[in-house]
Amino acid sequence: MTDQQNHQQHASQNFETLAIHAGQEADALTGAVVTPIYQVSTYKQDGVGGLRGGYEYSRSANPTRTALEENLAALEGGRRGLAFASGLAAEDCLLRTVLVPGDHVVIPNDAYGGTFRMFAKVMERWGVQWSVADTSDPASVRAELRPNTKVVWVETPSNPLLGITDITAVAEIAHAGGARLVVDNTFASPYLQQPLALGADVVVHSTTKYMGGHSDVVGGALVTSDAALGEELVYHQNAMGAVAGPFDAWLVMRGTKTLAVRMDRHSANAERVAEMLTAHKKVAQVYYPGLPDHPGHEIAAKQMRSFGGMVSFRVAGGEEAAVEVCNRAKLFTLGESLGGVESLIEHPGRMTHASAAGSALEVPSDLVRLSVGIESVDDLLADLAQALA
Ligand SMILES: *Cc1c(COP(=O)(O)O)cnc(C)c1O
Repeated sequence: MTDQQNHQQHASQNFETLAIHAGQEADALTGAVVTPIYQVSTYKQDGVGGLRGGYEYSRSANPTRTALEENLAALEGGRRGLAFASGLAAEDCLLRTVLVPGDHVVIPNDAYGGTFRMFAKVMERWGVQWSVADTSDPASVRAELRPNTKVVWVETPSNPLLGITDITAVAEIAHAGGARLVVDNTFASPYLQQPLALGADVVVHSTTKYMGGHSDVVGGALVTSDAALGEELVYHQNAMGAVAGPFDAWLVMRGTKTLAVRMDRHSANAERVAEMLTAHKKVAQVYYPGLPDHPGHEIAAKQMRSFGGMVSFRVAGGEEAAVEVCNRAKLFTLGESLGGVESLIEHPGRMTHASAAGSALEVPSDLVRLSVGIESVDDLLADLAQALA
């Protein structure tokens, strides 16, 4: 099927159906119901240039990766999906496709530490300028726009403070200024939030997180509804080469099939955890967009299906007390990353966000971040209670 036909068929199906079927026709040769892992680098040609199904060399295209890429495009409601070796590889490909030296980017004051590092330590050396805005305040984004601004970068909910950005409002501001809006949709996943429908030009994912969902693969993705940009991205993906391997693509696809049911449980468990923490005397502040007093609650309620599985909180007693809570947790595994079926706990200041120390993106030292898994919520609440006791 052509991209256009795929897009039309997908528009008529619901998310849960697309998650399981989009891009995943039964194998033409064997009827295998699950797309096989095409662990292969090159393809026999029927005469010079006689490619079967367009496959020539697996950096350019591989059938397992194609299946995932069509699945990703359908889930985000986009035209073109691309799968990479990691979230940062996807970001790098995007930035080097749409930027040249001298361009300017607006980045959020609360973002994944590695994204900040990409701008501050890598892109800057190649002549890309950046400045920081509080993207939860659209006026702050407008104030940072310059004549050479080409990209506005948004993460919503953000990592690790769960800030919420109004995607529609910021898309209008970015477009009025001649810039593209990129949304890192890793925390929400396309089941909870669809940035392209709200005006974003490109969606970024670390598929390592909720898309993969089982803490067993590192991967990244881009999805766009702009067909011309999609072609440019495909060109750069091949020219730069940081593609997802066949087995990694297969693992992410296995994950996306259950994304809807997993996200429902992540959100339900996280809501209970956020309520419990809010009532706890050793907790100074809870960051969860599902709480009515969260400053982004109304916007989150408007643009998200539910509020997701990430909860951060500040521990009364400061940095050492926060580190102690992380060390005492048992069922919540102490570790980086997020979005897997198992619950994780971490101290962003010393772990995931250590690279933002001393910058505008520095995080509070008494902050603890939870990735609330899909275990029994009663067991999760009991573990947090003992860790805080
Ligand atoms: C993990 C993460 C990334 C980077 O993805 P990798 O797969 O680790 O390269 C980007 N954005 C967010 C929000 C993340 O959580």
